[in-house]
Amino acid sequence: MARYIGPVCRLCRREGVKLILKGDRCFGKCPMDKEAVPPGQHGHARAAKPTEYGKRLREKQKARRFVGVLERQFRRMFDAASHAKGNTGENLLRLMETRLDNVVRRLGFAQSPRNARQLVFHGHVSVNGRRVDVPSYQAQPGDVVTVQEGLKGNVTLSRSLQSQLQRGLPGWLEWDPSLPDAVKKLSESQTMADGGVLGGKVKQWPAREEMSFPVNEQFIVELYSK
Ligand code: SF4
Repeated sequence: MARYIGPVCRLCRREGVKLILKGDRCFGKCPMDKEAVPPGQHGHARAAKPTEYGKRLREKQKARRFVGVLERQFRRMFDAASHAKGNTGENLLRLMETRLDNVVRRLGFAQSPRNARQLVFHGHVSVNGRRVDVPSYQAQPGDVVTVQEGLKGNVTLSRSLQSQLQRGLPGWLEWDPSLPDAVKKLSESQTMADGGVLGGKVKQWPAREEMSFPVNEQFIVELYSK
C-alpha cells in the first residue's frame, strides 16, 4: 500500500491550512502559526494569486491529504461517489469520513490520521467483532468499532481519549456506555487498564455539517468533471 511518508507539516504549508495531521501537537507549537510559506525554494512565488484551475487543484489536494491517500485511491473514491445516488461532492465527503481509519480517529482512539491508519493496519481494530486491517474499509450505520483490549495500557491512546472527551464526539458516533466514565477517571499518567470497553458505534451517516474536512467539495467535482 503506497502512502506518503515525508514530513507532514510540509503538506500543511503547501495547502496553506492546518490539516491537523499530528493530533494534539498541532494545537501547540505549529509552523502554521507563524508566516506560512509554501515549501521549496520558490515557495513565495507559489503563494502568488492562483488560477481558477489552481484553486480547484489545491482543494482536491487538500482533501486527499486530509485522508492521507495517493491520487489513484482518491480518484477511485471520487468514481464511487459519482456512481452513488445523490450529490457527488457530499457522497465523496461521506466516503472520506466513514473510512475505518477516520472513524477510529474520530472516536478518539488515535490522535492523528497516521496513527489511526497504523492501528487498523496492524490489526488492532475490529468491526462487529471481526478484525479488519484495511484502513479504507467503509463503516456503515450500526457498525460497532472496537480496539483490542491489549491497548488499554497504552498511554498515548489514553491521552487521546482524554482529549476526545474534552472535544466531544460528532453526533453520528457514540462511545460504548462504559467508556466516558473510565476516561473521566484517568489522570495524566494513568492508562485505561482498569476499565471501560474501547469501542464505539456508527449511529448514522454523518450530516454535511458534522464532517471534519473543511474543503469545498464542489471544486473537486468541477476539477474531475473536466
Ligand atoms: Fe500541520 Fe499539525 Fe504540522 Fe501544524 S503541527 S503544520 S497543523 S501537521
